[in-house]
Amino acid sequence: MEECAYIGLGTNLGDRELNLLRAVAELGKLPGSRVTGLSPFYETEPVGGVAQDNFYNAVARLQTSLSPADLLERLKEVEVKVFRRVPSGHWGPRSMDLDILLYGAQVLSGERLTIPHPRLAERRFVLQPLADLDPSLRHPSLGKTIAELLASLTTDERVVRI
Ligand code: ADP
Ligand code: MG
Repeated sequence: MEECAYIGLGTNLGDRELNLLRAVAELGKLPGSRVTGLSPFYETEPVGGVAQDNFYNAVARLQTSLSPADLLERLKEVEVKVFRRVPSGHWGPRSMDLDILLYGAQVLSGERLTIPHPRLAERRFVLQPLADLDPSLRHPSLGKTIAELLASLTTDERVVRI
């Protein structure tokens, strides 16, 4: 069975625009998957207090027959094999971070995988590109649309369309 998944992309090492383009190409090569939407690219201030370069962020829509667990495994493989991502802690710089934001209307909470992504609702750099793709998308556990979540943000982190 196919599902519609939303993948968050983030990078702040190397050629950030090229990294995003390359990651989207890799998503399109995943088995049983095709990219059906891509948000604009945004430059965003890092969160978490570690001094580092700004991020480029985007969201891709993926029609996929991969299960959530298999999709996560494939995304990690792309991070490590294509982008040579090395561990840098939760908030450190990274060549590519690929997160499953939404997977249809599924709600999962496990040790390795939580869907929707646990910090989705508080991150402008995720909500803005998601809203560009579909503002009426509904967060399955909070019951609010992406547009509503974006409008209720109180943080003023800079998220600039490039
Ligand atoms: P960040 O939280 O900054 O994305 P990492 O990319 O290092 O940090 O991810 C840490 C772990 O988060 C991953 O190893 C993965 O098992 C787990 N994880 C839980 N839920 C998700 C999700 N929805 N998408 C991606 N990774 C997730
Ligand atoms: Mg991640």
